[in-house]
Amino acid sequence: MSCVVERARCTGCGACLAACPVSAITMDETPDGFAHATIDDQACIHCGRCEKACPALNPPELRTQEAVYAAQSRSQEVLMTSASGGAFFELAKAFLQGGGVVYGAVMSIDDSQANITHESAHTTPELAPLQGSKYAQGSAWPVFQDVERALRQGERVLFSGLPCQVAGLYGYLGRDWSNLITVDLFCHGNTSMTHLNLYLQYLRDKYHGEVTGYAFRDKEHGVGYNPRITLADGRSIRTTALRDAYWYLFQNSKFYRESCHTCPYACERRVGDISVGDFWGIEKERPDLLSTNNGPIDDSKGISVVLANTSKGHTLARAAEMVQMECDMADVIPGGAAVRAPQPMPEDRDTVLALFRAGDYAAIKRYCIRQMGVHNYLIDSVWDTPPVRLLRKLLGKA
Ligand SMILES: Cc1cc2nc3c(=O)[nH]c(=O)nc-3n(C[C@H](O)[C@H](O)[C@H](O)COP(=O)(O)OP(=O)(O)OC[C@H]3O[C@@H](n4cnc5c(N)ncnc54)[C@H](O)[C@@H]3O)c2cc1C
Ligand code: SF4
Ligand code: SF4
Ligand code: SF4
Repeated sequence: MSCVVERARCTGCGACLAACPVSAITMDETPDGFAHATIDDQACIHCGRCEKACPALNPPELRTQEAVYAAQSRSQEVLMTSASGGAFFELAKAFLQGGGVVYGAVMSIDDSQANITHESAHTTPELAPLQGSKYAQGSAWPVFQDVERALRQGERVLFSGLPCQVAGLYGYLGRDWSNLITVDLFCHGNTSMTHLNLYLQYLRDKYHGEVTGYAFRDKEHGVGYNPRITLADGRSIRTTALRDAYWYLFQNSKFYRESCHTCPYACERRVGDISVGDFWGIEKERPDLLSTNNGPIDDSKGISVVLANTSKGHTLARAAEMVQMECDMADVIPGGAAVRAPQPMPEDRDTVLALFRAGDYAAIKRYCIRQMGVHNYLIDSVWDTPPVRLLRKLLGKA
């Protein structure tokens, strides 16, 4: 067995596997659940296609912005079902008005076990499952051949995903196509399905019911990281990312894939025709755009950044029917960690991964409480309870 590229740089994009003519490559999982491409040397015919497709070996062209927008859907329904300002939905909807197919990530949960796959949508209603962030790594490569087939048949394709997945698609295709538009997300790192599934099993045991749904960012009580859990018996429980071990580890970059810590796509220059992310820090950089200052953007439902990185990306962004206010990268960078640089590898990454391998979520939780400090943990425990929420609202600090 050998590797296409050393494991530390393999993003698991699967371009090599999709390109291999004799199916000699598999995605092997480490005990932490991170998939890496592995070659069966007996089956390999040394054609070199995998190396040619691999974006870690042949980096794709990165693009500089033609325009930068603060954006927000005008639809309350879209805003409530999107992670930030619903830019993805509005871009995809505008794209589908010209016909074609949109690919994006969908999460299904069965018996507290989640799976994230890339699926297609041909109509606007079919976009619903693609909406919303799913904070764990799925596999996009199984649709690469379908994307190529559609492009060859002259169909218009919009492919959305993490920057490493977009890079993987370009690597597999070997070139850009005029009928292809790619949308990459701002991304500061990702963890594995193994980690997400251990967390869902913990929730199952905690709430005594199988988990059948998990929305990472529910907006019923405003923007932020407030997950909603759906259980098989119909209960729908909204919690908070504060004091939640999975979220603490995710937001503090503690259990990412190794390649995330040297990610070549965590920068201003982008791989996709369009990039979308959260406009964190807009209240400091462009307060004039917000509704609290009589601006056009509602600051209570999530705000997107849209980077138009190519002329075809820019044309689509202009066609999308949403609030779009021209900005500058200088407005985005202070709050946009994911466009500045990759997250450094934390010193305790191995400790955290070992805790997950042991599979004891209570121990993981204890570790996180020690890390955040008992004092902070206790504050967080009451911060999002209904009486404190009411008090914060009365004091204007909600
Ligand atoms: C792992 C991950 C890390 C992120 N890190 C940051 C960050 O550091 N800073 C920041 O500003 N934004 C980050 N984002 C992006 C942010 O969460 C929103 O997805 C983005 O702002 C788009 O929001 P939206 O309202 O326009 O659309 P939404 O409807 O919320 O997003 C839908 C889009 O996200 C894609 N998507 C969702 N989950 C996945 C997944 N697991 N794999 C591939 N594609 C997925 C769908 O394909 C679809 O294109 C991250 C997203 C993910 C999935
Ligand atoms: S060299 Fe060719 S046959 Fe061998 S693994 Fe790579 S793509 Fe497959
Ligand atoms: S193509 Fe993607 S999955 Fe294959 S070795 Fe390169 S980075 Fe890893
Ligand atoms: S940080 Fe880079 S390598 Fe990691 S998931 Fe995001 S785009 Fe992929």
